[in-house]
Amino acid sequence: MTLALTGIGIPTNRTVAIGSVALLQRGPVQVVQRVVAAGDVGREIDRLRTAVTEAGAQLLEARRRIPPNTPAEIAEFIDAHLLMLDDRMLFAAAEDLVRAERCAAEWALQSRRDALVRVFDAMEDEYLRTRKDDLDHVVNRVQQILLQQEQEAPADLQGRVVLASDLTPADTLLMRERGVAGFVTEFGGPTSHTAILARSLGIPAVVGVRRATSYLRHGETVVLDSTAGVVLAGCDAPLLEHFRARLEAERSHAAALLRLRHAPAISADGQHCWLMANIELPEDLALARDNGAVGVGLYRTEFLYMNRSEPPGEEEQFVAYRNVVQALDGIPITIRTLDLGADKTVDGCSTGTPAACNPAMGLRAIRLCLKEPELFRPQLRAILRASAYGPVRLMLPMLTNVWEALKSRALIEDCMRELRSRNVPFDESMPVGGMIEVPAAALAAETFARHLDFLSIGTNDLIQYTLAIDRIDDAVNYLYDPLHPAVLRLIHRTIAAAERVGVPVAMCGEMAGDPRHIPLLLGMGLREFSMQPGFLLAAKQTVRECRVAELGGRVRSLLERLDEIEPEEVLAALAG
Ligand code: PEP
Ligand code: MG
Repeated sequence: MTLALTGIGIPTNRTVAIGSVALLQRGPVQVVQRVVAAGDVGREIDRLRTAVTEAGAQLLEARRRIPPNTPAEIAEFIDAHLLMLDDRMLFAAAEDLVRAERCAAEWALQSRRDALVRVFDAMEDEYLRTRKDDLDHVVNRVQQILLQQEQEAPADLQGRVVLASDLTPADTLLMRERGVAGFVTEFGGPTSHTAILARSLGIPAVVGVRRATSYLRHGETVVLDSTAGVVLAGCDAPLLEHFRARLEAERSHAAALLRLRHAPAISADGQHCWLMANIELPEDLALARDNGAVGVGLYRTEFLYMNRSEPPGEEEQFVAYRNVVQALDGIPITIRTLDLGADKTVDGCSTGTPAACNPAMGLRAIRLCLKEPELFRPQLRAILRASAYGPVRLMLPMLTNVWEALKSRALIEDCMRELRSRNVPFDESMPVGGMIEVPAAALAAETFARHLDFLSIGTNDLIQYTLAIDRIDDAVNYLYDPLHPAVLRLIHRTIAAAERVGVPVAMCGEMAGDPRHIPLLLGMGLREFSMQPGFLLAAKQTVRECRVAELGGRVRSLLERLDEIEPEEVLAALAG
C-alpha cells in the first residue's frame, strides 16, 4: 500500500527525488532539570562557556569548508549562528540563571530558549518568526555538546533522501558535498531557512511534513515530489516507473540546458539578446559565470552595509567593487547605488523613517542617498574608481522625479572633479542609468531616457507600487501579479520610450528570469534581461525557441485587448 505524506514542496529546477531514506537524528535534545551543588556553580558556568567555545569552533570549521561556488545564504546563516553565540540575551542570561537558581547549564539554556521563543512567536512578521529556527539550532548544538549527544551524519548519503526533524545550515552543506537526492523535514515553512537553502542549492525538498520520522523507516525507498509537496512510501512498480520517467526527463532537460552554457542567446529568427546575472555577493560571480552570463545587469551593493555599525568608507567599497570588476575580466557590470530602507535596513545607517511609517514608500534608496550626501559620495567615488578596471555602469535605484536623476548626475560630476584633482583614474564616460520601478517613473520614462544613459525596469518594486501591495507582506501575496494590465502597460511604455529616445533598456526584476514571461517581454521589444544566475540557462533556452518578429505582432494585438482578457490568456496566446 502506498503511503502519502504531505508538506510544503520546495521545487528547484529538479522536482523529483527517488532514493532510500537516510534518517538524520536531529531532534531537540532531551534536557532534564538538574540542580548543582552551591560549590559547583563556578564549574557549571565553565562547562557552559567551554561548550559555547566548542560550538563556535564547529561553526567556524563548517564555514571554512564552504566550497567557493556555494550560494551566499549558507555562509549568512552560519554567520548568524556565530553572532548568536555572542548574544548576551542568551548565554550571559543563562549564566545568570545558573548562578541564581543553581540549575544545570543545559537547563538554564533551555529556559532562556523558551523565553526567547515566546518573543519570536509574538512577532507578526512570518520571516522573523521563522528565525526561531536559528535559535533552536544554536541552542541544540550547545546542548548536544554539554550532554555529549552529538550525532554524526551517516557516511553514505549519495543518492539518498535525507529525513530529519530539521536541518542546520551545516547539515545542508553536507548534503551537497555528499550528493543527496532530496530531503524531507518535519519542521519549516516556505520561508524557513531549510527551504531557502534547498532552493539555492537546487536540491528538491518537502518541508513541514509533520511526524515524518515516525512514519518513514531508515532505508526504505521513497519518492519525493516537490511540485505537489508529497512524499510517497511503499510505491508499487507502475507508480515508481512513472516517477523514474519524470526524473529521467528532468535529468535530460538539465543536461540539455547545461549544453547551452556557451551558446549565444539568439532567437529562432536571429534576434540577439543579452542575458545577464543579478548578483549580491562576490561569491555569486562563479554561479553567474557557470551559467553563461554575458554581464552583470544588477549588482546590489547593500550587503556591504549590513551587519555593521558604521557604513563602509570609500576605500573599502573601492576594493570590493574593483575585485568584482577584475574578476569579471572585461565582462560589463552594472553597479547599483545603495538601495537601503524599506526591507533592507541596516544598523548604524539611519534611514530616517520609523518602521511603522510604511518604509517601502519612505526615505529609501536614491531618496536617502540624496538626503545624506556624506553617505552617497564615498560610494560614487568608489564606483568611479572601480570603473578604471573594466566596463562599469552606475545605476540609480527608485527614481521618481527627473530632478533626482539630474541631482545624482551633478553629484557624480562633482566626484569626478574631486578624483581628477587627486589624479585618481576612472572612466570619464562611465554610463549612468536609472531603475524604473515607481509607476510615476514608468509613465515619465521618456523624460528619464533623455537624461540617462540606460534604463532598467525593476519589476519587483514596480509591481508592488502599481498594485499597492507590500512585497514582503504574505497576507497580500495573492495580489502580486506581473500580468496585471496596468503593470504590462507600464512595462511596455518604458520599453517603447527607451526605444524612441534610443537608449538601452533592460529588466532586472524577478519577472525577467521567468521563462513564462520572456516571450511576452521579447514581443514588447525587450532584449536585455538580468536575473538570478540559476535562471539563466532556462531563459536562454526560451529565447532560442522564440520567433521574435512573430511575437511582436501577437503582443501588439494583445496589448490592445488587455482589459478584456485574463492574465493566463496573455501567456496562453504566446505559448508555442
Ligand atoms: C526590483 O525592484 O525589481 C529590483 C530588481 O530591485 P530590488 O529587488 O533590489 O528592490
Ligand atoms: Mg527595487
